[in-house]
Amino acid sequence: MGFHMQVMIAILLGFKRNWHIFAGLVFGVLVGIFFPKTMYAEVYKILDFIGQGFINIIQMVVLPLVISAIIIGISNIGDSRQLSKLGGKMLIYYGIITCLAVSIASVIAIILQPGINAQNLVNPDIIKDTQGFVQDAIKFQQENLAQIFLDIIPKNPFNALAEGKMIPIILFVTLFSIALTKAGEISRPLVSFFESIFAATMKVTDWIMYLAAPGIFALTATSVSSFGLGVFNDIAQYVTAIMLALGIQFFFVYPMMLKIFSKVPVLKLYSAVSEAMMVAFGTASSSATLPLTITCCEKRGISNRVCSFVLPLGATLNMDGTAIVQTIAVIFLAQMYGITLTPLLIAEIAFLAIIASSTSAGIPGAGLITIALVLNGIGLTPEQLVEGFALLFTLERFVDMLRTVCNVTSDTVVAAIIADNEGELNYELLGDNSPVQKA
Ligand code: ASP
Repeated sequence: MGFHMQVMIAILLGFKRNWHIFAGLVFGVLVGIFFPKTMYAEVYKILDFIGQGFINIIQMVVLPLVISAIIIGISNIGDSRQLSKLGGKMLIYYGIITCLAVSIASVIAIILQPGINAQNLVNPDIIKDTQGFVQDAIKFQQENLAQIFLDIIPKNPFNALAEGKMIPIILFVTLFSIALTKAGEISRPLVSFFESIFAATMKVTDWIMYLAAPGIFALTATSVSSFGLGVFNDIAQYVTAIMLALGIQFFFVYPMMLKIFSKVPVLKLYSAVSEAMMVAFGTASSSATLPLTITCCEKRGISNRVCSFVLPLGATLNMDGTAIVQTIAVIFLAQMYGITLTPLLIAEIAFLAIIASSTSAGIPGAGLITIALVLNGIGLTPEQLVEGFALLFTLERFVDMLRTVCNVTSDTVVAAIIADNEGELNYELLGDNSPVQKA
């Protein structure tokens, strides 16, 4: 049996364990196909209400979970030598995964040439809708490149908290946690306080997961009913290139990373985190999936010390799926408008995609905003940019769902590798096949 078949079977076993969520996903696709938004606006409204309700309820636990996880994660690590060792490893693994992602994406886009002859596919109606969005996004990226980096530093951490800005929050909480460990015994009560918050939010996450099946059903149905299946014919070459690159990342790069850097069996890991994969697909948000990603990994044997440090940071910084899509999308547009793709330009696109993806928030559609950073350098006219965006928009939600699965899976792969390296992976639990809520 081929390796990718075995991987599929492992994931399906994970789906079988969570058959209700999987069923929600499948029914969601079917309902989306048979009740297109254009014809059944009322059905769409109800489904959208349920789906948004589910997203809101999981987002409710994200902030307390991220803050408490980082604080206990860092204070569990203890001394700063250990912290830099773990942090360094994490950045190296995330870096390798993302560099491989953009390399694969560039090669595929060059071989398949999805942009050749694509210009006649642009829909003039969508161009009108896109105009304002693109102009704002490009203008913002052009004028505010320095500001984007400055915004990472929260002037007022409470504002950042109120606005749910994950990267500044993580920066502040990380510094604060390091300071707590330096402060010694006196910080113990505060750390215990956050340990209680963490335990309670994990419990709430368990409860929320009982709503996962209807939530994923409604989210998938609304997505499919709004994009319809026609889009696949429209830009089939582009979709093929993206699916191929994401597939290679998922079926070959992650397993290879696990094999080279650890002894974690990929099939067991994929089966263990399959709930998180399904929720990532349904919500198209790494941040919203984070509570479940942490639950799956912890309950399947990855230590709290590793999970609570590596996963929250991964959910905001490690976006290899997004980097793949941005690289292919930009090369696609360059091909469409006949821009000569020199090796230097491709390297520049790949490099900018790494930066743009890691500044993307873990929310739906974030990657399509930061892509403006990559597009800036390739020399398209403003009209071409609008037209190009219009084309990318057609498929955005579907592509977002797929890339978010990669973004979340790669976080768990890196967490598993680090836990293995640190001797903090319980292999018995990893092989356990019962639903995480009851584990
Ligand atoms: N939706 C993606 C995520 O949450 C980010 C993006 O590429 O838009 O991981």
